[in-house]
Amino acid sequence: MALYADLHRHLGGALHPRIIYKFLQRQDHRVLNYFPDYEGFYNWFTRPCRTLEEFVKIHTLVEELQSLEHLPYFCLRLCRGAYTFENLQYLELRYNPYFRTDHQAPEAIRIGQMNQIVEVITANVRPADYPITVKQILCLDRRLPLALNEAILKVAIDNIGPVVGVDLAGPEINNQLWEDWVRLMAKARASGLKTTSHLGETGIENVHPQYFTVLDRIGHGIHIPLVRPDMLKELAKRQITLEVCPTSYRQTGVLKDFSELRTVFSRCKEAGVAIAVCTDNPGRNPAPCTLPGEYERLIDHDVIDFSELKAIQNEAFRSAFGFVGGNRT
Ligand SMILES: [Zn+2]
Repeated sequence: MALYADLHRHLGGALHPRIIYKFLQRQDHRVLNYFPDYEGFYNWFTRPCRTLEEFVKIHTLVEELQSLEHLPYFCLRLCRGAYTFENLQYLELRYNPYFRTDHQAPEAIRIGQMNQIVEVITANVRPADYPITVKQILCLDRRLPLALNEAILKVAIDNIGPVVGVDLAGPEINNQLWEDWVRLMAKARASGLKTTSHLGETGIENVHPQYFTVLDRIGHGIHIPLVRPDMLKELAKRQITLEVCPTSYRQTGVLKDFSELRTVFSRCKEAGVAIAVCTDNPGRNPAPCTLPGEYERLIDHDVIDFSELKAIQNEAFRSAFGFVGGNRT
């Protein structure tokens, strides 16, 4: 059995819609007023959006459900699904700990709760029956004030081990603040964390070259090969891997068709820039929403050739932040 690694998956988008729906039923959640049956919920949850902003709004609903109390429920289901249906050996799961704290509590209390969120996730992503290795990436967020992002970074540093890196997430807004983000990423690196950032996902405007000096990987970055292929040389020199999530771009309205990824893959290959194929938010994609499904779609749309597949799968292990050896095939 081939075993795979996924380096870009959000906790908020990792769960199959049926798991979320069953959870809502258990809680008798008010959202069910809009969705009396599963089919309606499924269609809403997995529908393609026009923009990333629209996509992120639904994400926010799930983040609020994943409170301290309920995280064990979601973590177990996420691990067993990834192991059983996707053959994942290794997963880097990313999330914003602040968004999972008690929304009614004062900010100082919420900041204090972030550590507990990480501890609960750490304790619940090692189910005995499903031997998958899950490492965590904590997400900073462009919508949050700098002081809160500093606090998230501190939680990441305090939990190095289970936490292997930090990411910068949220819609690509406030491009002018790049210096703040570069400084935080440099601090993360100096503290022993690896770094990635959502960048060049919806356009090129946000891609300041200074980011390249502090990042180990780039989340998406597809607009670099598409619009600024001249920048690829620098990425290759610095050995920065792109995390490319094929179905995600259709769901967030970034690309119309998978075939647009041909240019991304061919230009990166030519320039010597590594690509790890990842899933981003598989639970938000129409079924089948798995990593092997993403591999298949790339071949199906002539983005890659079958002969390139093994190298791409290996790239995910090679570019991982916390993978140590093991018996990958
Ligand atoms: Zn993402």
